[in-house]
Amino acid sequence: MGKTVVLATNNAHKVDEISNALSFPGWQFKTLRQAGIVSDPAEDADTFEGNARIKARSAHEASGGKPALADDSGLEVDALGGAPGVYSARYAGEGAGDAANNAKLLRDLADVPADKRTARFVCTLVFIDEDGTETVARGTVEGCIGLAEAGAGGFGYDPLFLPDAYHGEKTFAEVPQSEKSAISHRGNALRKLRDLLENTD
Ligand code: IMP
Repeated sequence: MGKTVVLATNNAHKVDEISNALSFPGWQFKTLRQAGIVSDPAEDADTFEGNARIKARSAHEASGGKPALADDSGLEVDALGGAPGVYSARYAGEGAGDAANNAKLLRDLADVPADKRTARFVCTLVFIDEDGTETVARGTVEGCIGLAEAGAGGFGYDPLFLPDAYHGEKTFAEVPQSEKSAISHRGNALRKLRDLLENTD
């Protein structure tokens, strides 16, 4: 029997990435908008998992109990004690946008030498099934923050993030999406979630 999963996002890019990674027979994904659901809870937890849970629970309840999936992600910079963390989207202020966030990150790391600019992207996925059962998967990707932006692809902090897999030679904004997904925090979290769900079905 088919299964419609509500994705607690209206981001078309995430929908493609998630539906490719979790292409179980009969599964179908719908954004909140496609499912006609209004759900915009305050993401006020202090962990990625907490915020993903808030979004997944809200979508599950607003849909009358349909399976729901949410992700929450961000960047942790070691020299900044893990900041921007759960504040990644609004690091330079509410509504400031990617350019301002990247500029602030470069300013905050101005005195930090290349070998101390270690960082990671983190993504946590929370899936809630019809009966309320929760499955949680976390993925990370290690790297460094560059001294200047490079590349025009991707989004967010991608032009500043040098994944270890490319030995500091390319940012996430300089590689095609398929290469990014193969090593990214979101790709890794999705592969873990797929394995967990395969073993519970
Ligand atoms: P959200 O999980 O979509 O709310 O993302 C939170 C924020 O983390 C984004 O606005 C970006 O600033 C940052 N972020 C998360 N994932 C990525 C990524 O893959 N590349 C660049 N920035 C990211």
